[in-house]
Order: sequence, then structure tokens, then C-alpha cells
Amino acid sequence: MTGREGEALTKVLGARSAGPLAKLGLTTVGDLLRHYPRRYGDPGTLTDMDRLALGEHVTVMARVSRATVRTMRSRAGAMLQAVVTDGRQELALTFFAKRGGALRPHEEKLRPGRVGLFTGVVSEYRGTRQLTHPDYVLVGVDADDAEAAMFEASRPIPIYPASSSVPSWRIQRAVRTVLDPLTEADVEDPVPPDVRDRHGLPGRLDALRAIHQPVDQRSWQQARDRFRFEEAFVLQVALAQRRAHAAEQEATARPLRPQGEASLLADFDAGLPFTLTEGQRSVGEDLAHELAQARPMQRLLQGEVGSGKTVVALRAMLQVVDDGGQAALLAPTEVLAAQHARTLRTLLGPLAEGGLLGGAAHGTRVALLTGSLGAAARKEALLQAAGGEAGIVVGTHALLGEQVQFADLGLVVVDEQHRFGVEQRDALRAKGRVAPHVLVMTATPIPRTVAMTVFGDLETSSLTEVPAGRAGITSHVVPAGNPRWMERTWTRVREEVDKGHRAYVVCPRIHPDDDLPAGGGAADQDFDDVPDLLALVDGDGPGAGGDRPPLRAVLEVADMLRETPALAGLDVGVLHGQMAPADKESAMARFASGELQVLVSTTVIEVGVDVPEATVMVVFDADRFGLSQLHQLRGRVGRGAAAGLCLLVSTAEPGTPAATRVEALAETTDGFRLATLDLELRSEGDVLGAAQSGRSSSLRLLRVVQDADLIADARREASAVVDADLELGDHPELRAAIEAQLDDEQEEFLERA
Ligand code: ADP
Ligand code: MG
Repeated sequence: MTGREGEALTKVLGARSAGPLAKLGLTTVGDLLRHYPRRYGDPGTLTDMDRLALGEHVTVMARVSRATVRTMRSRAGAMLQAVVTDGRQELALTFFAKRGGALRPHEEKLRPGRVGLFTGVVSEYRGTRQLTHPDYVLVGVDADDAEAAMFEASRPIPIYPASSSVPSWRIQRAVRTVLDPLTEADVEDPVPPDVRDRHGLPGRLDALRAIHQPVDQRSWQQARDRFRFEEAFVLQVALAQRRAHAAEQEATARPLRPQGEASLLADFDAGLPFTLTEGQRSVGEDLAHELAQARPMQRLLQGEVGSGKTVVALRAMLQVVDDGGQAALLAPTEVLAAQHARTLRTLLGPLAEGGLLGGAAHGTRVALLTGSLGAAARKEALLQAAGGEAGIVVGTHALLGEQVQFADLGLVVVDEQHRFGVEQRDALRAKGRVAPHVLVMTATPIPRTVAMTVFGDLETSSLTEVPAGRAGITSHVVPAGNPRWMERTWTRVREEVDKGHRAYVVCPRIHPDDDLPAGGGAADQDFDDVPDLLALVDGDGPGAGGDRPPLRAVLEVADMLRETPALAGLDVGVLHGQMAPADKESAMARFASGELQVLVSTTVIEVGVDVPEATVMVVFDADRFGLSQLHQLRGRVGRGAAAGLCLLVSTAEPGTPAATRVEALAETTDGFRLATLDLELRSEGDVLGAAQSGRSSSLRLLRVVQDADLIADARREASAVVDADLELGDHPELRAAIEAQLDDEQEEFLERA
């Protein structure tokens, strides 16, 4: 690397200035230059003081209205009391000193009428909000002459993510020290000049100057857009390289059986009780074609809830088994793995009874391998996997670890993921002499650019239609505080059960006296019932929002329902992640068979659980869940011929964003639209962090939803660069940027581990 961005700040700034910056994680020139302002103060606009919260470290732009030094009567010493204002409200600034003289310089500077930035922790004294010993800079005061002062006074002021030990302008000063002497030769630009030209982007050095020292709003906006592009571009180049490297790997080709020969796939298709949707057929053809190649398929299958991804995956698995290979199906939880095994065995019928009396002659076996198996069953399953009798092995991610051996693993299907990151996918491809084909299926539809960012190493297929003949689902919002509506809710449940149907009741917590939502506090629970609560994302989790009622809990609600007159005589069961696996299994089975008519559960039923007789779902605290999760949840009902009903019990005040969110859900069943809406309500870190660990570290400015076009552009340019120059021999700057990013991720990964 020839640029200077790798240089240590201690060397450039000296240990005294660099020390505090290190506390913010800034140790190199590059770190500091990538520490972009959070926002810009406009000298013409003062900070709205209504928004200052007690105890918070703040930076406010305000005008001085008065400043007076007083000697204190009660104790020895002097005090300077200044007052600044945003035009409506006042904020006191208080400085103490032994003698009044020490305060004169402040008094001299803090002249009425001057505008400045003041920073400190907000406290309160006798009903007045104040900053004690605030740090401050006054607009235009430190400049050399009047003209410079005017210029300074009209420029946007960068306001950095700061802390009480390193105020914003100390960062600003450090940036200036580092940035001023830099020349083009010192700064490496990972975005090639022709790409910059095509998109009208400034060079890296110009952009750094503009983002840290803008002359006007336009200049920092342009610079910010350029860095967004850079982030997207570097990421997409890395992903394009991953795709290309994987494509160079060797895999076993699994061509379709020629017509006329005995084939599990052909027999399965012939026995299907329904016709495939158009989407299922065409995606199926794509998969069949890719499996027949001698390089590993790497595909993401995303689809609307209930669009029938399982059948598509099963057909791909059968193609591999027909060729003598094996397929592994990974589910995120044990409940789901068990359910998948059951579903696959049912769908396959005699085809899954190879070697058994009554089984098809060329049939195979479906083995289930989970941590909760007894020793004998586990040994049997392991033998079937290792010996090849089981063409399909179902389990959780643990399946890929440790001692599980396959005779000939040809395809790995990862179901309902978003907890299976790039690292795991890489590890998977690295397993064995030849790479298996990989099919990843998402639980819910995701916006296109999120797919490009989070699953950018995969090709994408989508299923947008649900099979015909579904009665569909209607959703209504039920205000929790309205007893008549709540009563009506339970009568509706009763009516459904009386028709031979069943009901889910979903709650965000398990125990009423838990502080945290289900799964929130406990150690790894196999992710069974970690609700995707917006309340937590928003930072007003249970307990924090003083006046919000506590979240409803499974055990409490089950007890309540057993006492509810409308439900008298019904059997109410519970299901949550703290139950023993065998108990979970049995609760699901009893619900599926109709022995239980009402199942009170955490979000453990979120993904993939399939009981066609379930027609109604009541979701408590619906306003506190993420939209995509609710959409996925309600996809559990209305899967059969009878119409589904989803009752969203909400405590949100009308007109609040939470209320709007739940209403949006009641109004549309378009999962792609809801997914986009959901993302718009979250910060990027949440989106990417939840979706895939590590990746977020390299994205500082890029927003996966709003910057959709930019991401698509960057991806196109990135693919072109990698197509022409896979190892980036002609793009050393770009190679360096990717290496630096990988190092960061590695570091973060190690820190977490
Ligand atoms: P998801 O895509 O949400 O995972 P599933 O694969 O669980 O959906 O399918 C939902 C249900 O639809 C299953 O009961 C499945 O058997 C059924 N199904 C799948 N494809 C079709 C089809 N083409 N016609 C009718 N029913 C189908
Ligand atoms: Mg599914």
C-alpha cells in the first residue's frame, strides 16, 4: 500500500492528541478519515432545545444572550454564568474558578449575539437545564481576518460522532491536521477513474475534503454520495470475486435421469396431488440445469410466504439422489427440522421407504439428525448418512459440524435462513474435496437490494405467486384496551374451532415475570423463539417505556384462555423454546392432530410450521413485532381451503408509527412490499446485523433500501471489473480496500467469538 491511510495517528498527531481518538476506535489516518460527520450544523439554524434530554452528551448550536462573572457568597471562588438560546428556550452554561480572573477569557469570548457550538452533559439546577464547563467554539471567532471569519461563519459545521472526552471539534481539528497536507499521491482511490467518470463522482481526496470541510451543503452531499457508491462498489467487487471463485470450484454434475429410467423425481412428479405453479416449474428448470453442471450451484430461493418453496427444494434433492448423491436439509430450529422430516416423508410416501417392505424398489430414506435424539436413534441416523441409505438427511446447522459423515453429499439446502451468514456458506463450500451444490431459501421475501447486499454471493430466484385455490387471509387490528373487541376475538376463535378448525395465539414472552422477551435473556435456545421485536430496536424495550403495558406471556395467556367463557371445554396447549424438545414435538403433534384446538406459543411457530386446519391466529402485542415477522407468522393460517383470519392485538395509540405499522399489515398481503416498509423503519445496522454478521462494519453511509439504484449500479460496475480482472492485478487500490475490509471483518468476527 502506497497511500498514507494506513499510518498510525500517534505518528501523525502525536500521542497526546491520538490517545483520546483511540478510545473511539480511531487508530489510523484511514480510520479518522472514514469517521464521517454525523450531520452538519448550519450556522443559520440553531438547535431545537426541546430535544435535549437530561444526562445526555449533546452538541448544540446556539446564540449567546448574556454572560456574567460573579463571586460566590456561599463558598470561595467565582462563577461565570452564561445563557445561550435557540430563540425560544434558554440553556445555562456554568463555569467555576478559584478567582474571577480565570473566567475573564470566557466572558470575553462569550459575547452576546455570537453563535457557537456548545457541548457537554445536560444537567438540571433549580429547574433550569445547564451544561457545566461545556467545551465550545464560536463561529468565525478563531479566524484570521474578517473575510475568513465571514466565510467560516457561513460554512456547514461538521458534527462528528463524539464522546465527552473527545468533543466534535477536537475531531474536526484532528481531521484538518491529517487532511490538509495530503496530496493525490497519498490517497488511494478504490473506484477506478472510468467508473468515477461514468457516474460523475469526485475523486477520493476531493471527496474527503468535501465531506469533512464542506463549503456548502451541495459539496458534502456530493461527497457523501460518492462514499456511498464506494462502499457499495467495494462490497460488490468482493462479492463478485466470491461468486467467481466459487464458480471455479469443482462440483459433481447431477444430470436428470434420462426419460424411461427409474427415477425418484419422475415418480414424485407423477404422484403430486397438485400441479406446480408457473413459478415453481420455471425455477425448478433453472435448478435442474445448474445441478447438471460440474460447478457448484449457489442460489438463493426467496418467495412469498406459502409459495411452495419446499416442493421446489425437494425436487432438486431428488435429482441429486437419483444420481446417487445425498442431500442435506438444514433448518434453523429442531422443531422445524423435525417438521421438515415429517413433511418430506409424507410428500414422498413409499418413495421414502427404500429397503423397507412396501417401499418403492428404488426408494430412498429420510434421516433426521438432531441433538435431542436418543443414542440408538442417533447412531442409526448417523449410519444411514455415512452409508448412503439416507438420500436425504434433515437437521439443524449442527449437521455440518463435527462427526456427521456423508457417503456422497451433493446438495445442501438451507431453509428459512437469515441466520446463516457468508462465513458459514464459505465453510460449507470448503467442506470436502468437491463442493456441494447450495440452495438457500429465505423465510420471507426480501427487497432486491438487500438480497444483493446480504446474499450478494448467490444468484437469486423468486417465487411471487401462491398456489391457486388458497382461500387467503384477512387481518384486523384489535385494540387491546377494548373489552368488547377482545371478547369478540375469543368468540371468533370459538366459532372457528366449532367448524373443526384450530387457532394459534402468539405472545412475545414466555413467563409473565421475565424482564426480557422470549429468548432475549437465555443462552442459545436454538433461536426457537427470539421475537424480532421492534420495541427493542427502537430502544424502548419492555420496562423502558414506563407507561406501556408489559408484554404478554405464553404461560399467563394460556391460563387466562383456560378461564375464558367463550373457550370453555377447549384444550389449550403451549409451545415455547424453553420446553424439552420431546415436549415441543408432542405439543405440535397434538395440535396437528386436533387433540389441542388452541396453541399458545412464542414465535417458535414463525417459520415453516404447517398445520392446514389452523385458520385463525391471534397475535398479542402485534405493534411490537417487525412487519416481516408478523407476515411470516400469519402465513401459518389460511393455508388450506378455508379462509384464514389474523387478529392483531395492539396497544399502540392511534396515529403513532407503531399503529400505522400494524394497520399497514392488516391492509396488504404483499410480502415484498411489507419487507421494504419494514426496512425503512430500521437502521442499517439492524438490517444487516440481524441478517448477516460482520458485513455491517464496512457500510457506514450506505442504506440498503434508499440506495437501491446506487447498489444496482455499483453491482454492474463491480461485475464488469471482476469479469475483466478477477484477481484485480490492474486495480491494486481496490484490492487493498477489499483486504482492509476483510481484516476488519475478521477482527470483528474474532472479537465476537
Ligand atoms: P413456503 O414457501 O412458505 O415454505 P411451503 O413450501 O411450506 O411454503 O408450502 C405451503 C403449502 O403449499 C404446503 O402445504 C405445500 O404442500 C403446498 N403447495 C406447494 N405447492 C403447491 C401447489 N403448486 N399447489 C397447491 N399446493 C401447493
Ligand atoms: Mg417453508
